[in-house]
Amino acid sequence: MLQSKLFTKVIKEAPKDEVSFNAQTLIRAGFIDKLSAGVYSFLPLGLRVLRKIGDVIREEMDKIGGEEILMPVLVPKENWEQTGRWESFDVLFKLKGGDEKEYALGATHEEVITPLAKKFLFSYRDLPIMPYQIQTKFRNELRAKSGIMRGREFLMKDMYSFHADQADLDSFYEMAKHAYFKIFERFGLGAITYLTYASGGAFAKYSHEFQTICQAGEDIIYICDNCKVAINKEIIAEQNQCPICGNKEFREDKAIEVGNIFKLASRFSQAFNLKYLDKDGIGKDLVMGCYGLGLSRVMGAIVEVSHDDKGIIWPEEIAPFKVHLILLGKKESWEKNKAEADKLYEKLTAEGVEVLYDEREDKGPGEKFAEADLIGCPIRLVISDKTLAEDSVEVKKRNSEKSKLMKLDSLVKDFIV
Ligand code: ATP
Ligand code: MG
Repeated sequence: MLQSKLFTKVIKEAPKDEVSFNAQTLIRAGFIDKLSAGVYSFLPLGLRVLRKIGDVIREEMDKIGGEEILMPVLVPKENWEQTGRWESFDVLFKLKGGDEKEYALGATHEEVITPLAKKFLFSYRDLPIMPYQIQTKFRNELRAKSGIMRGREFLMKDMYSFHADQADLDSFYEMAKHAYFKIFERFGLGAITYLTYASGGAFAKYSHEFQTICQAGEDIIYICDNCKVAINKEIIAEQNQCPICGNKEFREDKAIEVGNIFKLASRFSQAFNLKYLDKDGIGKDLVMGCYGLGLSRVMGAIVEVSHDDKGIIWPEEIAPFKVHLILLGKKESWEKNKAEADKLYEKLTAEGVEVLYDEREDKGPGEKFAEADLIGCPIRLVISDKTLAEDSVEVKKRNSEKSKLMKLDSLVKDFIV
């Protein structure tokens, strides 16, 4: 992508009405724009990141048997009344349709997926199933001070699993746990993300959160360093020892909940009278699990934990572009340098490398470097009079101070691919 064609521009001043670091930085760098508290647009750079986060999640969900669907955002009141959550889910956005029919905007989708599953699940032979979606969720959050980590409108992956019995749910739940760890590793968050024991509601002893250590996070967790697991503050009073090793020495830290998996047992299948026939033809309740992961929250969390004073440092898998190619040159040498840089851009692009190419003639080196650091692509390439004097291009990783010259004709095969 040519940087001159990007309709968004880097903004010099941090926006005054934004208090969170992630949103300030993402707005300045042109990834997102704020419409109102907790409501953001994702601009070309930001949408690329969000899509890549989604791609990683899809891959890992598909590997454990997930089937992607897309459910409606408008969910009729009757569905919520059937589970009692029209009243009890305190952050629902409610609205009336033209026919005076009432709806809530989807804040979670048990009320849609359960009656949907009922149309297809009849016998033990139809089980298990694991549908999921990636969709915009709406919650009327009171506090919206954490930027895209707490939106009133935000992107979530929600998977729901349906099983014949508890044992099958338990075994799938463990698979989902592993898939989540894989996902957070691929996001570069593996080392600072803890499986955290949280309240399980009425149907399970615990639920499990995936908490990423982050000083801007809204949660407090207690970490057992022996087992690399944690306990959420909400249950520490009743769970005062590590559920794995019994240790009572915890390290307290601040964290953001990036994912949450929950055994629902028959809470929703009973509400919608969803049953299946077992091998003996006897009707039984289905048991369910749900598995949430906030894409936009993850994006904000990565900015919070992976940056320096110059800007964002994206992990490679979800960077908007792998390479930021910067063209420099004096007036006299501009056309010659540009011809070389154009050639490199085309070669890399043809090899499938994603390149943001800063070919703007009206910006100086200082500004170009500062913008590249702020945007945070993993590899910076510079073509200038100096590098071309050696038939080379300067290569620098965003997370390293060192740079080196590499020969132009070998760069593509030696380094990038
Ligand atoms: P929290 O405790 O932070 O309010 P939650 O427990 O209500 O979140 P879930 O209902 O389990 O969250 O939602 C699943 C995932 O969706 C969360 O783990 C989080 O990653 C994400 N998420 C939840 N609320 C928001 C929000 N307001 N903005 C962005 N992401 C969110
Ligand atoms: Mg929570």
